[in-house]
Amino acid sequence: MTSRYAVLGNPVAHSLSPDIHAFFAKGLHDDIEYGRILVPEGGFERTAREFFKQGSGCNITVPCKGDAFRFADSLSDFARTAQAVNTLKRMDDGSIYGDNTDGRGFAADLKEKGIAVKGARILILGAGGAARGILKPLIDEDPSSITVANRTAAKARALEELFGEPVRGEGLSEVRGGYDIVINATSASLSGSVPEVSRDVLAGSACACDLMYRPGGHTVFTDFAVKCGCPRAFDGLGMLVMQAALSYELWRGRMPDYQAAFRRFGGDA
Ligand code: NDP
Repeated sequence: MTSRYAVLGNPVAHSLSPDIHAFFAKGLHDDIEYGRILVPEGGFERTAREFFKQGSGCNITVPCKGDAFRFADSLSDFARTAQAVNTLKRMDDGSIYGDNTDGRGFAADLKEKGIAVKGARILILGAGGAARGILKPLIDEDPSSITVANRTAAKARALEELFGEPVRGEGLSEVRGGYDIVINATSASLSGSVPEVSRDVLAGSACACDLMYRPGGHTVFTDFAVKCGCPRAFDGLGMLVMQAALSYELWRGRMPDYQAAFRRFGGDA
């Protein structure tokens, strides 16, 4: 029998998730259907209940990750620390389990690209949902330090308080150089702008990544990083593929061929 999956959010028309999951299913000869479901404003719970009358699992995208966190009957540690859910699964007893594979997807993508987090000095620009979601998986890899720098400094300091060592929070304007990995977890690229950090910060780092993705693999931030002299810059497509692979594994118990998916969808791993 065909198993039903979908991505729920608003908007969803642009989402690559149905293509990625169809690619995974084809590779594993799995009989699944994966659709897009537009969630009307304030209508997450109703939409999700309707979906789970037949659906086995779904991904959640903006702006519904907090709603999905509240909707789930039980949660993974990653979902709990992120306070956001990007993957829901209907369990055998009919209850709904919520996980967050975004952060682990990002950490796994760094590994695939040969970028060592252990011992690294990491700078995260932004303190929204995506920044919060990648913190635990990065801390688990034992970096030497993680600085979270945000336009609204109080939000970065709140993350320092929540996570403790090795996380510290500061305002964007306080950022100085001395980082190995610079991660743009702001949504600035969506509006075509770059967070205001000095060029030296990027010139001195070994790699820069933007969590946002774009066809072709570069964003205003990755272009800016390369222009500043950063030797390696990439977008969030690898993270997208990896978080999808981890969702697929949670739903169906088998890890799909994510490397083939990187090649198919344009990643460079
Ligand atoms: P949120 O709305 O939760 O947070 C936005 C963050 O960006 C805040 O810290 C905000 O600062 C900051 N910001 C926005 N505009 C600017 C600007 N012009 N200059 C400096 N800082 C700015 O968004 P998310 O955390 O959910 O998403 C962030 C990014 O991550 C998006 O680009 C999204 O596409 C990407 N993402 C990618 C995924 C993937 O699979 N590749 C998965 C999830 C997210 P302030 O607090 O001061 O407002």
